[in-house]
Amino acid sequence: MARYTGPSCRLCRRENIELFLKGERCYTDKCAIKRRNYPPGQHGQGRIKVSSYGVQLREKQKVRRIYGILEKQFRGYFEEADRMKGVTGENLLFLLERRLDNTVYRLGFASSRTEARILVRHCHFTVNGKKVNIPSYQVRVGDVVELREKSRKVACVNESLEAVVRRGIPQWLELDKVAFKGVIKSLPAREDITAPIQEQLIVELYSK
Ligand code: SF4
Repeated sequence: MARYTGPSCRLCRRENIELFLKGERCYTDKCAIKRRNYPPGQHGQGRIKVSSYGVQLREKQKVRRIYGILEKQFRGYFEEADRMKGVTGENLLFLLERRLDNTVYRLGFASSRTEARILVRHCHFTVNGKKVNIPSYQVRVGDVVELREKSRKVACVNESLEAVVRRGIPQWLELDKVAFKGVIKSLPAREDITAPIQEQLIVELYSK
């Protein structure tokens, strides 16, 4: 699956919010949004009038960028969320949260979702004892996500696990740091997603 390969900080500046795409750097003074808190490009510092469509579009782009997903796949998630029972916007967020790369990030094995995606692609994890290298794999309740034996000395994983206290682990996951494994205790709830997201704006945008 294709992915965005351009500058990450530019995306944060575009959305005018810290999206935490670069791991540890995001918590330092080097963070671009702290130094240049205006949209990128020639007209970034000008006055910009945003229409209601623009507000909805920006919200969708923000969520897409948080989870590192391109438009076509994101649209697919929306359509699946729409078919599910319950609130479409929340279903969309739950599908995104249950991606394996996001789960690895949320468990603290990686400092960003981008790093988590690379680790998953490079076969560093198993789910219920089986190798899985698909970042979009949907985890289920009871699944055990484990770092493979041979990967336990990978420096970036150990550094991330040390720093996970700052970020915290959501209620729906449980981490066993010593055994390098995490368990999916329950499905994610809306309050577990702490990023400032107004998912109803995305539903309105796609329902036009
Ligand atoms: Fe965004 Fe992190 Fe770059 Fe800051 S350092 S602008 S939070 S990606």
